[in-house]
Amino acid sequence: MSCPIELDPPQWNSVTEGHLGKLLIPRALQNYISSVFTKLGWHEEKTPFRGTTPIGDIDFTNLIYTFDPSAPRKIILAAHFDSKWFPDSPANQFIGATDSAAPVAMILHLVEFLTPLLNERKNRIEKGLGILKEEENFDEEELSETTIQIVLFDGEEAFKDWTDTDSIYGARHLAELWSSTYLDSSHSVYRSKNKRRLSPEPTILNTIDHLILLDLLGNKHSMIYSYFRETDWLHSKMKQVDDKLKNEKLIEIEPNEDLWFSNFRMSGGIGDDHLPFLHRGVSIFHVISNPFPKVWHTLGDDASVLSLPALRRWNRILRVFTCEYLGLSPTTDMKTKKSEYTRSNEDLVGLRFNFEFIKLPKLMDSKDSRS
Ligand SMILES: [Zn+2]
Repeated sequence: MSCPIELDPPQWNSVTEGHLGKLLIPRALQNYISSVFTKLGWHEEKTPFRGTTPIGDIDFTNLIYTFDPSAPRKIILAAHFDSKWFPDSPANQFIGATDSAAPVAMILHLVEFLTPLLNERKNRIEKGLGILKEEENFDEEELSETTIQIVLFDGEEAFKDWTDTDSIYGARHLAELWSSTYLDSSHSVYRSKNKRRLSPEPTILNTIDHLILLDLLGNKHSMIYSYFRETDWLHSKMKQVDDKLKNEKLIEIEPNEDLWFSNFRMSGGIGDDHLPFLHRGVSIFHVISNPFPKVWHTLGDDASVLSLPALRRWNRILRVFTCEYLGLSPTTDMKTKKSEYTRSNEDLVGLRFNFEFIKLPKLMDSKDSRS
């Protein structure tokens, strides 16, 4: 069976090849991550800072990549790139394949897929050829006002035991930094056609539509709950994407792994990088396996626990989900030119547009209740 989300980029044939192979080497991955985004032409920002930890002062750096830094708003896809530190051998050989090498690798894989589509749309808009289908409420110019930003947090892990002050060093720093960085009146958010409700003095946090945090993924089993009423709809959209891929037989389902997305909302939440953003009013979708993988924080969390069918399933879910959210479709210039992203109608089944999806964010704009 042929399908676009299977063919391009090439799928992983082993857990030590491609991005994942590079990320399964302890540390020393900042340069690698940076090189991937730089090659793709994304804007890079690093936020270095020194944090006080139970083992002394440590230098951290969050890595932030934005496709279009001039866009008024953004959806953030995030993961942490640090591996938990252990003082003694052999525990200090800890890799963290699911925690969080695989989620970072999935993100890199995703941006390689998205970049040509984003560039094509950008070129169309620049030439005044952005697609407008009024009857479907589809306007590429408007859609492109929401860019995608990747945030890779440093220092997620506690150095000793997880506490409010010994954990999520990078996320706490970034949320604080952004909440105190006010937008000046020339910021494009003021020109945006469909701006969100703004606080009296908007900060960078006001430009975030949603923060989607990936963690503890890539092993055979995942169970993803919704934790916040405000983003139940994002959870159910991701579930629908998984269901669609299943129905079209575009993903391999391992035995007993049919259900990855629960229909129930979990009350309470899980401590992770989203918390300092959540507490400042940012809308969160936490994509984390619950319960955690059995190998969590053990040496067993290495390449051997990763499952290729599960990784491929995540890669495809993320591609379709993100394309739908951003209003990107490889179908758009099918008639006008042949590119490597041009495919036949039949091939596009996994990426077919869901216009309902695009309309939903506007209906869900209010920041009221969460649970
Ligand atoms: Zn961890």
